[in-house]
Amino acid sequence: MVAVRFHGRGGQGAKTASRILGTAAFLSGYVAQDSPIYGAERRGAPVAAFTRFSREPIRERGAITYPDVIVVADASLLDDATARVVDGMDDQTVLFVNSSLSTDALRAHLSLPEQMTVRDVTGIALQQLGQREAISALLGAVAARLVGLEWESVRLAITRELQDLAVTAPVIEKNLTVAKQCYDSSGPASLHKGRSQAISVAALHRPIYEPPTKGTARISAAGNSVLRETGGWRTFRPVLFADKCNGCWLCFAYCPDGVIAMNQEDRPVVDYAHCKGCQICVHECPTHALVAEREAEGGVAWTAK
Ligand code: SF4
Ligand code: SF4
Repeated sequence: MVAVRFHGRGGQGAKTASRILGTAAFLSGYVAQDSPIYGAERRGAPVAAFTRFSREPIRERGAITYPDVIVVADASLLDDATARVVDGMDDQTVLFVNSSLSTDALRAHLSLPEQMTVRDVTGIALQQLGQREAISALLGAVAARLVGLEWESVRLAITRELQDLAVTAPVIEKNLTVAKQCYDSSGPASLHKGRSQAISVAALHRPIYEPPTKGTARISAAGNSVLRETGGWRTFRPVLFADKCNGCWLCFAYCPDGVIAMNQEDRPVVDYAHCKGCQICVHECPTHALVAEREAEGGVAWTAK
């Protein structure tokens, strides 16, 4: 069995990338399963998705604790303890990171496996697709290449999954072209197959009853959301060109997180420590005074070190 774990931010397409990989494996004749996990569904929040495929029936379910391959859609997740990207990672794990940083820069910051590939998939999507957010087709293609699936299955899987999301045929074609480039520029990895199964089986344990208060999202103290600095979730930040702003307050009204304040000149002031980069303000601004600029990697979380 091959086990692949995807980590991304809400809106990047980690779930769809996992589906593309699972579908490609299925179309290649494997037994396949894929499933995502995310808590409160918020753009920018850490999400994970899991794909398993095998020639034999797969008995394992749920999260993948010891993946053969980890695909990271945003390098800042490596630094986010709540995302748990490094869980189960060791020297036998194959790691792919979407980042504009170099492999050495990432290694200087964290202890990472020998088999590690870094590629700026977001930059490629931006340049070639004019797409800021969803990079699912490109990530799915890279993952499929790493685990040795044929392009034809990947092509069919991308087409099928993007059609299901009502993506138009011309956009699917563009995604296929760029996904093929990503696929070709990666090489199959040397996988330690069966590793995840062996370790997981050894680690099986009997579930114990836990009261609902333990497994249920709840607010345990008042007024503490300010302590969670969601600025680290951003891959793009809203930037104001004040000369274009007409002071309409629409950005203020639409920001779902209430992190825009208006100053005395009726111009927005963004609290970047808590702006999660959803880009709703950018979409809603009628004068294009707010624009999305790619976040410099090594931003909020990394420079804090
Ligand atoms: S300021 Fe803009 S990008 Fe940031 S959270 Fe609010 S709407 Fe989203
Ligand atoms: S929506 Fe645009 S024009 Fe209106 S206040 Fe915000 S930045 Fe200015």
